[in-house]
Amino acid sequence: MSFKLYNTMSRTQEELVPLKDSHVRMYTCGPTVYNYAHIGNYRAYMFEDLLRRWLKYKGFAVTQVQNLTDVDDKTIRGSRETGLPLREYTQKYKEAFFEDLKTLNIEPAEFYPAATDCIPEMIAIIEKLFAKGLAYKSDDGSVYFPIDKFPEYGKLAHLDREGMRAGARVAQDEYDKENAADFALWKGYDKADGDVVWDSPWGKGRPGWHIECSAMSMKYLGESFDLHTGGVDNIFPHHEDEIAQSEGANGCLYSKYWMHCAHLQVDGKKMSKSLGNFYTLRQVLEKGFTGREIRYELIGTHYRQQLNFTFASLTANRAALARLDEFYTKVQETIGSETRSPKLETQNSELETRNSELETPLPDWAQTLAARFEEALDDDLNIAGGLGALFDGVHEGNKALPMDSKTALAVSNLWKKLDSVLGFLIPPAAEVPAELIEMANARVAAKKAKNFAEADRLRDAITAAGWTVQDTPAGPKLKKA
Ligand SMILES: [Zn+2]
Repeated sequence: MSFKLYNTMSRTQEELVPLKDSHVRMYTCGPTVYNYAHIGNYRAYMFEDLLRRWLKYKGFAVTQVQNLTDVDDKTIRGSRETGLPLREYTQKYKEAFFEDLKTLNIEPAEFYPAATDCIPEMIAIIEKLFAKGLAYKSDDGSVYFPIDKFPEYGKLAHLDREGMRAGARVAQDEYDKENAADFALWKGYDKADGDVVWDSPWGKGRPGWHIECSAMSMKYLGESFDLHTGGVDNIFPHHEDEIAQSEGANGCLYSKYWMHCAHLQVDGKKMSKSLGNFYTLRQVLEKGFTGREIRYELIGTHYRQQLNFTFASLTANRAALARLDEFYTKVQETIGSETRSPKLETQNSELETRNSELETPLPDWAQTLAARFEEALDDDLNIAGGLGALFDGVHEGNKALPMDSKTALAVSNLWKKLDSVLGFLIPPAAEVPAELIEMANARVAAKKAKNFAEADRLRDAITAAGWTVQDTPAGPKLKKA
């Protein structure tokens, strides 16, 4: 089965066929590191994570580049307001971004270039553009891209070229379609930029935001690559300008496919600080929700639909995840019933490896689940269909319990495979401290030796450590109280 995606360029669904072999080279617009990223940002990064994981599941090799915008209008403003050097100011938010990715179990990209590390590459592109008559210097020392000299300008955002104002210029990084105009490739030095300045053939200054992504994508992925992603608000002007600069400079296709993720709303309203419904990931965690619960919430709505984020829905996720966990636990108990001990996890993974060699067939309900899941995700990442298949499968799987341990192993392997895409399916194993495992084992031995006083003492010690020990036919089971 082939993977179909909605290409913003053609406004249709297309089958993904990489430019080279089965290697997908993708570029993802990353965070502007001037603040802690908000949940709307993470909605987009979550979509890109699902995409990346799905491509890998499909057997594609993936090289993903996600940039860090550490010099632009916003970061300079922030560094000026706090009196910190730009590098120091952005460093804190770069680190926070990587911590947040871990919290949400977002797979790392292969490359995370920072704009300030790629200034020579940006200058090289602008020089190429000058050589082709696609750049000019203005009186203020800035360099602009003349959009009327690039006939394809507007092809991604589907702009009406008639309405464009010939000769008008825009210096800001962000502007709307009504103000489509020659945009800044290089901004001449302004006192307000403080010590944020680089030398260039056109004098001192700094890059425009758009040229940063052109330079960072080409540096790692080549002049033409497969897939460029971002939020819908990146389509214009950011991605339109990236295309103009890149295709203008290189004379070849920039990105074959473009995918864009819709906005996130909170309680049905646009997230904004003035409405009091603006949340960073950290603020949601402070309310007591886990990264796994937030991941489930952010991944669960199709990326091209607006996601309505509510705390009621986050709370409801707990019940859904509990249903999944309950089933998964029963499957694991079935596997473990032959060889149970507190060191269950290691034994299970050994058993599972052996099982995959023997390839025990999946029961019908699980085969149906897998087929429906794949069909849904192949349809432009139809996650609602995928999750529907999963919960229907769990419903059937529960009816199929108890199952024999070999079947349980096959199901467990399927769960691992699906979790490589979903990233929330397998409950994080609470790490049982080694001394507690020893105590649980000693307690079993004490009971065998009919030393019940010692067994009780060990049980009390385990309880005092904040754990419960349960006797199951398969042996002792430790659980966090
Ligand atoms: Zn970008």
